[in-house]
Amino acid sequence: MGLEEICARIAKAEKNAGREAGSVKLIAVSKVQPNERVEAVLEEGHRLFGENKVQEAAGKWPDFRERFEGVEVHLIGPLQTNKARQAMELFEVIHSLDRPKLAKTLARLADELGHCPDLFIQVNTGEEDQKAGVMPGEADAFIAECRDLGLPVIGLMCIPPVDEEPSLHFALLAKIAERNGLKGLSMGMSGDFEKAIAQGATHVRVGSAIFGERDYG
Ligand SMILES: *Cc1c(COP(=O)(O)O)cnc(C)c1O
Repeated sequence: MGLEEICARIAKAEKNAGREAGSVKLIAVSKVQPNERVEAVLEEGHRLFGENKVQEAAGKWPDFRERFEGVEVHLIGPLQTNKARQAMELFEVIHSLDRPKLAKTLARLADELGHCPDLFIQVNTGEEDQKAGVMPGEADAFIAECRDLGLPVIGLMCIPPVDEEPSLHFALLAKIAERNGLKGLSMGMSGDFEKAIAQGATHVRVGSAIFGERDYG
């Protein structure tokens, strides 16, 4: 495990899927990881990272951005509307646009700030109560609503249920994206990113397979 091995596995999965080399972006998910581990991956030359909490990202990335050029950080976790402004200032991309109220808040703030991160709409492909995301049956309407608001939606994101075959969920997400003319697919984590690449992922979000297990203790 580690950055180099994951990059090699991504390259292989791209090839196996008949996809262009470099067509999949690796988001190194640095949440909860000690700064030394994150710094080691920055030293290896990686520049694209994912965080799932605004507060945690605000505590570490301004400093890393000063020390390493070309860093890009994506928000992959749920976003409360009262943290939307801070998120828009911290992240290049937000993967968790999941409800009309947040869409309206982002549109208002985009007007005010004069810029908006690129956005992925999160789809709850497994229709799980505890998970964020719009239901698959509501996705087309929500995508249209976000576009009407002028939001820069570039793709869809999902987190499949833990106990189901992820490929089915990746395929569903790809189908919804395709019929809505969306190119971005944020899907695949440490345990299933190769399957996600086979189904067309453009962004994989890999944490523990790069950095080691997270210690929440
Ligand atoms: C933590 C997290 C990941 C990374 O999970 P790993 O299993 O460590 O690769 C990916 N996506 C989201 C939304 C996460 O919260």
